[in-house]
Amino acid sequence: MKVLQCWDDGVVSDVRLADLLRRQRAKATFCLNPGLYQDTRSFGWLAEGREIWRLGHAELKSVYDGFEICCHSMTHPYLTSLTSSQLDWEIKASKDLLEKIFSKHVSGFCYPFNDYNDSVLAAVRAAGYLWARGGKEEAHIFPPADPLAFSPSCHFLDPAFWGKYDRAKERSDVFFFWGHSYELHSEDMWIDFERRIEKISSDDAVEWSFVGDLFV
Ligand SMILES: [Zn+2]
Repeated sequence: MKVLQCWDDGVVSDVRLADLLRRQRAKATFCLNPGLYQDTRSFGWLAEGREIWRLGHAELKSVYDGFEICCHSMTHPYLTSLTSSQLDWEIKASKDLLEKIFSKHVSGFCYPFNDYNDSVLAAVRAAGYLWARGGKEEAHIFPPADPLAFSPSCHFLDPAFWGKYDRAKERSDVFFFWGHSYELHSEDMWIDFERRIEKISSDDAVEWSFVGDLFV
């Protein structure tokens, strides 16, 4: 079984997450909004009273070194509310910008708020993406009916995480979880999460994969 993980929004707690994942030899995909970075770290929003800060431009390459980069649009809007030229900028110009920042090809897209329709799908297809994360959670996730609506197995805090992992493993399917590093908001959660990643890394029956490696 291949195991995939996606982490969204490019925030400061990704530094700790990336270190943890490197320590545990785990592959991961980070979904970023290149239009929201400033030169230095900047305040993003409040989540349950905690300040969430975005990374600074200059540190992006080193923080995400060795991981897969996915485009999460330029500025994280509801894509279904945009005009076609706005869509093009959010979907295509963002891909170009990420490829320039990271000096590598970006093959995947992730719909902000999981919000998309046929026009958005068409814009993602026209921009040359090979896969996109979106859709409803399904029992069998791979291969998806449309690679531009590739649904994860579950959120990383889903209480049924291990049940879904075991069922995917029995079927030799793909197990794909997602989340935001800022949801790890206590030391206990970080410790529990690292144990989880360690357990997956030491499972001889599975291997970590980048999402894009399934769609080459
Ligand atoms: Zn997001």
